[in-house]
Amino acid sequence: MPLLHIGFDDTDSRQGMCTTYLAYKVVNFLLKRNARFVDYPLLIRLNPNIPWKTRGNGAVALRVEVDDKSNVMDGIRTIVENNSHIGNGANPGLVFYSGEHIPADVREFASNALYDVMSRNKAKEIASKHGIRTFALGNGQGIVGALSAIGTMLKDHTFEIISYRKLENCGAMREIGKENVITMAKRTFPNTYNNYDYSHDRILITPRGPDPIFCGIRGEDPDTLLQAFFMLNIPEKLDGYMIFRTNHGTNMHLTHEFDLTTLKAYTSGYVRGVIASEPYAIKGGHAFFMLRTEHGSALCAVYEPTGLSQLAQKLGVGDVIEIGGGVRKATSKHPKVVNVEYFRILHVAPKFSYMNPLCKKCGKRLKSDGKEKGYKCEKCGVKERSAQKIVIEIRREIKEGLYIPVPKAHRHLTKPLQRYGMEKNGYEHVLNPNWYCNFVSENLSQVRFV
Ligand SMILES: [Zn+2]
Repeated sequence: MPLLHIGFDDTDSRQGMCTTYLAYKVVNFLLKRNARFVDYPLLIRLNPNIPWKTRGNGAVALRVEVDDKSNVMDGIRTIVENNSHIGNGANPGLVFYSGEHIPADVREFASNALYDVMSRNKAKEIASKHGIRTFALGNGQGIVGALSAIGTMLKDHTFEIISYRKLENCGAMREIGKENVITMAKRTFPNTYNNYDYSHDRILITPRGPDPIFCGIRGEDPDTLLQAFFMLNIPEKLDGYMIFRTNHGTNMHLTHEFDLTTLKAYTSGYVRGVIASEPYAIKGGHAFFMLRTEHGSALCAVYEPTGLSQLAQKLGVGDVIEIGGGVRKATSKHPKVVNVEYFRILHVAPKFSYMNPLCKKCGKRLKSDGKEKGYKCEKCGVKERSAQKIVIEIRREIKEGLYIPVPKAHRHLTKPLQRYGMEKNGYEHVLNPNWYCNFVSENLSQVRFV
């Protein structure tokens, strides 16, 4: 039976609702129709440096074997239409592709959508070439993400278990024990990440808004995430949970190398170069410096909330670094600038200061006696025609290494420090049978696994 690949995006808006909750509903619908999932629901974060994205720029893909495709597609279309916040800023897109393998140009479109700005027309053109059915609401921008979601092939990946509230509880405060979160974080380390921000004493797994997500725990494998979720002993009666396979925490958007001759606005990527101007800070503590490569140079910004701005100010001319980040468009007030999301100091250039020599007779520091005339002592009048300046190497306060933002400044795609060296290179298509759950009872301990 050929697979049905279902992609959707941009169903949420800044007012609430979210694409993952819609995915949870669509999965419920599919399971009731005996769909067999060949992969976890995929939650794909696309280029985060596009200003017209919704909150997280997250798109969802589902890959299933299912009978009666035509009815299933109609049903999903109805769910998307009824649950999207059209008119509140959402421009949903929905695509269906029936086939075993995703065509090469769909995969290429998807891999570009991770760092570049892709057009709706290009998405529609590729879709029609391969008989991919598309449904667009609002301005149709969601087609780009929906097509990209089905086309993204995840090598390195992480998982997220997202739990959902009963709709009547949305908007109420989320009750969650801080101690439980800390215990869970410690017991599951390093296979979960960004649960708790110790330096700011803040729980990171619960969102703030009125949306239906209760909490989301991110980590390396579904087994650990299930254990982690139940360790929380959440008192609220939840609707259920679902495990997504994602590109969270992979830096997947930063794998494209910037070309500084054609640095395109809103693209994401990385570049290696030499610091070409002494860093300076502006009001608010944001640091700026010029980075130069053989192809050109770019102004780079390290913002204060990243926690890296103080360190960036200690960089100096001649230091070799790699930066990853996104390009902010030039405006009448600002030039084009690369907003830095991490930096790696590859070489710390030695820095020197130069001082006049001392008087051999009385020990006082000599003064210059004029250009190319050497030095003279103001105290005893000795002249030193051939004396040289004394060179002193200044101690640098930075070390070679990788520097990433503090957890509260992480974006979905930011690779946390603990994941460096833990990257995956593929995926065995075996699903944990408990990847989806709708709590049948009001008691969290009596769960029914579908
Ligand atoms: Zn002297």
